[in-house]
Amino acid sequence: MSVPTFTLNNGVTMPALGLGVYQTPPEQTIAAVESALQVGYRHIDTAAAYGNEREVGDAIRGSGLAREDVFIETKVWITDYGYDATLHAFDKAAGKLGVDVLDLLILHQALPGEFDLTVGAYKALEKVCSDGKVRAIGVSNFMRSHLDRLLAETGIVPAVNQIEVHPYFRQSDVLAADTEHGILSQAWSPIGGITFYRDGSHGSTLQDPVIGEIAAAHDKTAAQVMLRWHLQQDRQVIPKSVTPSRIAENFDVFDFELTAEQLGAIDALDTGVRGGPEPEDITREKYGITIPEA
Ligand code: NAP
Repeated sequence: MSVPTFTLNNGVTMPALGLGVYQTPPEQTIAAVESALQVGYRHIDTAAAYGNEREVGDAIRGSGLAREDVFIETKVWITDYGYDATLHAFDKAAGKLGVDVLDLLILHQALPGEFDLTVGAYKALEKVCSDGKVRAIGVSNFMRSHLDRLLAETGIVPAVNQIEVHPYFRQSDVLAADTEHGILSQAWSPIGGITFYRDGSHGSTLQDPVIGEIAAAHDKTAAQVMLRWHLQQDRQVIPKSVTPSRIAENFDVFDFELTAEQLGAIDALDTGVRGGPEPEDITREKYGITIPEA
């Protein structure tokens, strides 16, 4: 089946659901991407910092699909921020992926303490976008204040803001900020992957009794219900798996509909506790890694 799409604020369309490859080791990446493309996925979300852009490119080329039929998204890491460094980061990413044009290139994080570098990086994205080397640009883990600062100093409104969203952490203020600015919210850890590692009382979203009950009512799985919850609230999703049966399961979400009451019941699970790093605390000192050349 063909995947439903979202239309970005610059008119580019992107699939509503793609495969994430964070923590997918390079040696497993080709098989995971191949498996996804066979099932019908047409979007892969990678990042310079994931160390598997090369394998993503290999798998897409090996699939025999036309380049324009697969939407490729990648991210610039913070050690490559600043105008010239980020222009070069595009060359590194495109070189590893083996493509001339990227569909979506985003900044992986804001650097709140060095926002001038963040702005310089974003201006480089604007440049590669206006040169036609990237079809759309965006950001990730930008909170409302980061968006406000960025929009005040740059010209192209980000097409996408990729943020942590799952039933235990909804970030409704950031979702609202995205909507106000015409930015598509893209949910990372959409089935709560980050919650699997969390200590404390909430455990995994996959085991949540409310989600489990809704899943049973639709004869679907907890993962499928969570993905449906995002899609029906207009969030793009990028579930990660290296397991072929789960890759197929996560794509099989276009034949059922949650009720307003069920959506509300999942909204009510929000704990307000993030699983990932606090975006305000991201610094190059703490999170800097060197991104290799292509
Ligand atoms: P996720 O997609 O919510 O969950 C992934 C985990 O769930 C993996 O352990 C996977 O295991 C398991 N899984 C997948 N499908 C399943 C199913 N149907 N039933 C049971 N378990 C299932 O979390 P994520 O990987 O953290 O996030 C997804 C993507 O978002 C990443 O790959 C990445 O592209 C992006 N991301 C971005 C950021 C950012 O800062 N921008 C941060 C984190 C993630 P197996 O692989 O073993 O099957």
